[in-house]
Amino acid sequence: MPNRILLRGGHILTMDPQLGDLPRGDVLIEDDKIAAIEPRIEADAEVVDANGRVVIPGFVDTHRHTWESAIRGVAPNATLDDYFVDILDTFAPVYTADDVYASNLAGALECLNAGITTLVDWSHINNTPEHPDAGVRGLQETGIRAQYAYGSANTSLADYWFESKIVIPKDDVRRIRDTYFSSSDGLLTMGLATRGPGFCTDDVVRAEWEMARDLGIPITVHVGMGRMAGRFGMIKQLDGLGLLGPDTTYLHCCYFSEEEWQLVARSGGTVSIAPQVEAQMGHGWPPVAKSIEYGLRPSLSIDVVTTVPGDMFTQIRSAFGIDRARRNEIYWEKNEPAEGHLTARQMLEIATLNGAFVAGLEDRTGSLTVGKQADVVLIDARAINIAPVHDAVTAVTLCADVSNVESVLVAGQFRKRDGKLLADVERARQLVENSRDRLVGAVADKKAAAA
Ligand SMILES: [Zn+2]
Repeated sequence: MPNRILLRGGHILTMDPQLGDLPRGDVLIEDDKIAAIEPRIEADAEVVDANGRVVIPGFVDTHRHTWESAIRGVAPNATLDDYFVDILDTFAPVYTADDVYASNLAGALECLNAGITTLVDWSHINNTPEHPDAGVRGLQETGIRAQYAYGSANTSLADYWFESKIVIPKDDVRRIRDTYFSSSDGLLTMGLATRGPGFCTDDVVRAEWEMARDLGIPITVHVGMGRMAGRFGMIKQLDGLGLLGPDTTYLHCCYFSEEEWQLVARSGGTVSIAPQVEAQMGHGWPPVAKSIEYGLRPSLSIDVVTTVPGDMFTQIRSAFGIDRARRNEIYWEKNEPAEGHLTARQMLEIATLNGAFVAGLEDRTGSLTVGKQADVVLIDARAINIAPVHDAVTAVTLCADVSNVESVLVAGQFRKRDGKLLADVERARQLVENSRDRLVGAVADKKAAAA
């Protein structure tokens, strides 16, 4: 007999365009899948009271450097330029495999706690061949759904980020793929975290794009951010190299020419926007509405917890507020009423369904749809910061915070229940605190040795 869970009497926001919302409904989960969504279901199942809760698909974070969990909050005032020096040239070189494991474990638990059920882990911290194994293991142990995006080493800023001549080692990417990702239907999938033109020589760019395509894994790359990459014209360069394609996710996209937007849209590429980081660190305006104008389906990402919070509520609000503020200013200048504002419902779709699309997982997650994986979040809408509910979408996007994420299921398994993670959180915290102490010590030692 399959394992059955019945979520009873919740306000269900399926995000499935066919199903829509059920102001009061039941969700039946059988093993790892959603078996039924109806106003009322009778089934021999473990019944979970969802009355007073808003039931949504899990959030999807399409780009986070999870390895940075151990250095959370170290760079509150950093610009993107500062970040390259303070994080990539200071902390990254002293990271051991154990630090990556601790960060990925704690970071993935942080995601689950906040209702993020799918994570693209952009792991450019592969300083030794033990590092990728440690990163994958950290994710795996938490039961999160994740795309592990294998990136370069980061032992020196000069070697890896300025016209880098070093290609990500294909043999090791293949080893990791064959060791952990031989089946494509598990919780973990794989990608290649590439640096791209400007950061690497053309030969390296070509080699990395060809590697990903040869190994059959998608590509993710930072583009069009800040003074640095904003001027590279990376999309034009990639187009010149003949490398644009539907298997590539472009992160940030703040400084694109019209032509670059069209090139991305025409090539079937996907986009991930990290609004809080972009606004705060100088990447540029988060182009959420802009990307929609080009027919794209943008997703949201957290990017770096060194500098911004790690939850999706922050990103939703950040994108929503910034995009509308910018539009209001443009229309103020024109002396006309503002038009074309993003809506709260669009933001929820962007944070769930679009995320799954961008992560290449729309066939299995991103909406509450019969037959999809049961990646489900219950938001406690009886909480004092949410009640009384007038509109369930508003409750999630503009009222709720992490404290209201009551229960979280990934593939039909409770990972958080009644407000508590079902994991050894104490151990994860200890590991990440020990890692913090070691990293801070190693950086101090290096500085003392250089003085
Ligand atoms: Zn990033």
